[in-house]
Amino acid sequence: VDLQARIKAGIRDVPDFPKDGILFKDISTLLLQPALANAILDGLAAQYRDVGIDAIAGIESRGFLFGNALALRLEKPFVLIRKAGKLPAEKITRSYELEYGVAAIEMHRDAVQPGQRVLVHDDLLATGGSAEAAALLLQDAGAHVAGFSFLVELGFLAGRQRLAPIQTDIRSLAA
Ligand code: IMP
Repeated sequence: VDLQARIKAGIRDVPDFPKDGILFKDISTLLLQPALANAILDGLAAQYRDVGIDAIAGIESRGFLFGNALALRLEKPFVLIRKAGKLPAEKITRSYELEYGVAAIEMHRDAVQPGQRVLVHDDLLATGGSAEAAALLLQDAGAHVAGFSFLVELGFLAGRQRLAPIQTDIRSLAA
């Protein structure tokens, strides 16, 4: 069975979370299957081994799970993009719109160097709002967004179109 089919089978669909009418893709069940998690990491590494990236930025919190593992595998630095108020040292912030209200994410100012080619990684691409904010934060720090990486992409929400003005190299392992 191919990796995409194994990922789709391994994800738990939870109806009406976090609110009525949303079918939540719960990726925590992938982590309960270490052979599958290793295959996912192998798949990510194969996607990015020859792409020429200098660092990987993961979006809190599920973007940390495979993002850091990928960074270790490729022997690249891993950059934390966190919810506001969590990081201790000098940081930069970006606010972005949610469906209801506004959110803010932060990054340590010295976590990337100007001109570095940084891959943005998260577990799931929905509307693209989170990945877009992360990318703009990296650009604020002078980095170049070299690509977007996701385990899963919900195609019907058009996240790709939202991210394309920043970077069209958008990859997922399952759609
Ligand atoms: P977006 O900003 O609309 O693309 O939403 C993506 C962000 O929300 C990611 O950080 C995901 O972890 C999270 N997210 C949205 N929908 C789901 C889901 O169905 N399963 C898991 N995470 C989700």
